[in-house]
Amino acid sequence: FVKSSIIEGTQPEDDSDQEGIDAKAILKRELQDERKTLPIYKFRDELLKAVEEYQVIVIVGETGSGKTTQIPQYLHEAGYTAKGKVACTQPRRVAAMSVAARVSQEMGVKLGHEVGYSIRFEDCTSEKTIIKYMTDGMLLREFLGEPDLASYSVVMVDEAHERTLSTDILFGLVKDISRFRPDLKLLISSATLDAEKFSDYFDSAPIFKIPGRRYPVEIHYTKAPEADYIDAAIVTVLQIHVTQPPGDILVFLTGQEEIETVDEILKHRTRGLGTKISELIICPIYANLPTELQAKIFEATPEGARKVVLATNIAETSLTIDGIKYVIDPGFCKIKSYNPRTGMESLLINPISKASANQRAGRSGRTGPGKCFRLYTSYNYMHDLEDNTVPEIQRTNLANVVLTLKSLGIHDLVNFDFMDPPPSEALLKALELLFALSALNSRGELTKTGRRMAEFPLDPMLSKMIVASEKYKCSDEVISIASMLSIGNSIFYRPKDKQVHADNARLNFHTGNVGDHIALLNVYNSWKETDYSTQWCYENYIQMTIVHTLLDVASIDEWSISPSLMSRMTFLMVRSMKRARDIRDQLEGLMERVEIEICSNAIDLDAIKKAITSGFFHHSGRLQRDGTYKTVKNPQTVHIHPSSGLAEIRPRWVVYHELVLTTKEFMRQVTELKPEWLVEIAPHYYQLKDVDDSGTKKLPKGHGRAAL
Ligand code: ADP
Ligand code: MG
Repeated sequence: FVKSSIIEGTQPEDDSDQEGIDAKAILKRELQDERKTLPIYKFRDELLKAVEEYQVIVIVGETGSGKTTQIPQYLHEAGYTAKGKVACTQPRRVAAMSVAARVSQEMGVKLGHEVGYSIRFEDCTSEKTIIKYMTDGMLLREFLGEPDLASYSVVMVDEAHERTLSTDILFGLVKDISRFRPDLKLLISSATLDAEKFSDYFDSAPIFKIPGRRYPVEIHYTKAPEADYIDAAIVTVLQIHVTQPPGDILVFLTGQEEIETVDEILKHRTRGLGTKISELIICPIYANLPTELQAKIFEATPEGARKVVLATNIAETSLTIDGIKYVIDPGFCKIKSYNPRTGMESLLINPISKASANQRAGRSGRTGPGKCFRLYTSYNYMHDLEDNTVPEIQRTNLANVVLTLKSLGIHDLVNFDFMDPPPSEALLKALELLFALSALNSRGELTKTGRRMAEFPLDPMLSKMIVASEKYKCSDEVISIASMLSIGNSIFYRPKDKQVHADNARLNFHTGNVGDHIALLNVYNSWKETDYSTQWCYENYIQMTIVHTLLDVASIDEWSISPSLMSRMTFLMVRSMKRARDIRDQLEGLMERVEIEICSNAIDLDAIKKAITSGFFHHSGRLQRDGTYKTVKNPQTVHIHPSSGLAEIRPRWVVYHELVLTTKEFMRQVTELKPEWLVEIAPHYYQLKDVDDSGTKKLPKGHGRAAL
């Protein structure tokens, strides 16, 4: 094979002193030795031979065998990167980032140089990049700029078993281009054994199996169903810690909130355990966690201590954490579901599938015999769990994908080569939505608006809001709002002992009951006025969730922090706002591409609200006599989320960003609306009768009168 110049020569740039080089050389040698111990190493040459011989290969191998980190390096060492980049797609952002970091370390190069990653709104690659880890969604977007992926020599669709929406669409696209690009190699890699299906789809592509090492795993079930799986998980962690031999614990939770809760409670409870019990190191992992803290989960556990990793189903197959001996599986995960009839999408906590349960259990038997504690009964397992998770394409809103496919020139969606076709009702709904947003004309062809919308890596409703801002001459404000909406829901922090202060700070941004969208704009603009000050974020309780986690990890008292930690903390605190600023910069660049001028119209709030409505007119709600809201089309009872600035005001008409189902169906990010706007902005969708406002007097006193 062709020997790599990079592995041979390049040193990271900041090497100046001799000691540094030595330490790094040792680390590199150790990492190179470690690479050789992975199960895949024995099959390196055989695998490369197969890649040479066949254009498409399906690779199956147990999690941790080295598929993700090693195969791209093997391809590089064999000279494929001389002909074009190697892409490796991941369903999750955290996995793309963390794996890229690991591989850059193994190759002894700086992350973002030869090895990089690309996730939405964050491109950590350069001219030099030859191995590129990326989310599947990002590769999908690359087709827009490079329909034949000419700059790539190999595409590895990794974690194919996850069957995310983007992965499924990628299947169709890469299969298509492989026909006229015989030089392009395709690797479809999966952690589960149902590879036949992939092979069939890719015209009977050969299956390459990497036998994993797997030790026996003892499965324990609960005798009766658990009423509270969070509590049960915590108790189980503590029981293992106190009674079981050394070995780390992996707990599967459904999301960041659960992880934070368990983290907090475990910290609290272990404090009382005394010095006789060994240390329990708690390592949460989720997408918003700063990279340097993510790295912590991979660090070896110190002698005498035990690590407990709190993860979502990212740890099922995407990330491998060494040293896990005990797995706690409450049996749930968050699953997106979509009702094409109402167009409502919700993220709900659902039971996992049998396939998932087995993957989870397997995580405990990688380095030795393991134990898996299922917090459900064996009857539940046998009778209640589905065999496999339904692929995302069959349970999601397809508007985004349809817009992408249309802009790739793929018009006949019904006959697109889907591995599993989406329900035709969902396809139809997506076409309807895009038509209502004027992205498609009545013949289903992309309009100029649609073409512009497709340039933005955002949900079509958000893209439409941005494109519409041109008309209302408030693009400056609208892209700030879009950026703030894109960083998620944890902008405001509310420490338990400072709730009043935090609430006051938050309400300041809502002065005049401007609504949540404008409040987000106020946050962004105020921060900008302070010249992006860190201190300002701190004083206004903005995005401290991450800091909180750091404090927990450092296990120190929240309000007595050392100066060095303080500076580190403040750095993390603005991360979220900085991200909004990064996103905003990128959106600004895209505005130039679609030739929309950036202009500001800060005084005319109605203009801004109209632009929002232009994108989100589907999401309108009207106050009912009983104080609840009904969505205007497809009537459904909903409520304003308590975190909204309008929760107490309850205006008569509102437009909302999204619905979230927790205890009730809540509208999150809510802004007041004049009903006539709906007819003015979306005459093809709303008629006057929809927004008929009679019956006003019967509304509860004090509500429905917020100043517009
Ligand atoms: P697979 O894709 O087959 O599941 P990977 O290539 O992800 O396997 O992992 C191989 C090994 O690399 C793992 O056993 C783990 O020890 C190591 N590894 C992977 N990612 C990281 C990381 N970010 N930090 C440290 N070690 C890692
Ligand atoms: Mg992998």
